[in-house]
Amino acid sequence: MASVTLEHLSKIYSNGFVSVNDVSLRVDNGEFITLHGPSGCGKSTILRMIGGLEDITSGKIYLSDELLNDILPRDRRLAMAFQNYTLYKHFNAYDNMALGLRLRDFPRNIIDSRVNDAAKLLGISGVLGQKIKALSERDKQKVALGRAIVCQPKVLVDEDFARQDPERRKEMLCDILEINEELKITVLYVTNDPLEARTLGKKIVFMKDGKITDIG
Ligand code: ADP
Ligand code: MG
Repeated sequence: MASVTLEHLSKIYSNGFVSVNDVSLRVDNGEFITLHGPSGCGKSTILRMIGGLEDITSGKIYLSDELLNDILPRDRRLAMAFQNYTLYKHFNAYDNMALGLRLRDFPRNIIDSRVNDAAKLLGISGVLGQKIKALSERDKQKVALGRAIVCQPKVLVDEDFARQDPERRKEMLCDILEINEELKITVLYVTNDPLEARTLGKKIVFMKDGKITDIG
């Protein structure tokens, strides 16, 4: 588990555009925070800086007490699950979920127990042996989430995943809420849908033009 702290975080693109303007925010251990604001207000830029996919112009990002600024993306204990939704269609669900752990040379018994635990939590134990192409969209989504959580990230960040499909989005949100509750993983969730932000009943951080305008 970990908290995420942004201190005076700013991003100015090479063309001079100020995308994130002096944002300070703390997401506590195990907390679920929704980042909400219109398209173009800088939400994704913040997530990409947390994930290490975008250089920080100024400011600091901490994961608990650890300064993240100079840590390589792959060494950050967080999952930007939904950018990597691409699953290997010809592999089965189990192999897709195990992939990250195999790449990191985890022993087989640990991989096995983590994949089985995640599958149980997500309710997909019964389809682990099936190829991705044979699964429903719903189950594919769960496999993608499972692949993220078997690596035991301390923080889960959501990059407007499945924005184009409200039904998918709603299902995914249920899964993320459950993961937050069951595994106590800290979540930073992004949405530009005001209704979704409000129905979540969680802490909402409102953004506009690169700045935080309100926290409620
Ligand atoms: P959101 O996720 O809230 O919709 P983004 O973080 O994607 O917003 O983008 C914030 C602003 O930064 C937008 O106005 C976008 O056009 C601008 N932007 C994003 N990437 C670049 C870039 N590489 N160069 C210049 N401006 C950019
Ligand atoms: Mg975005």
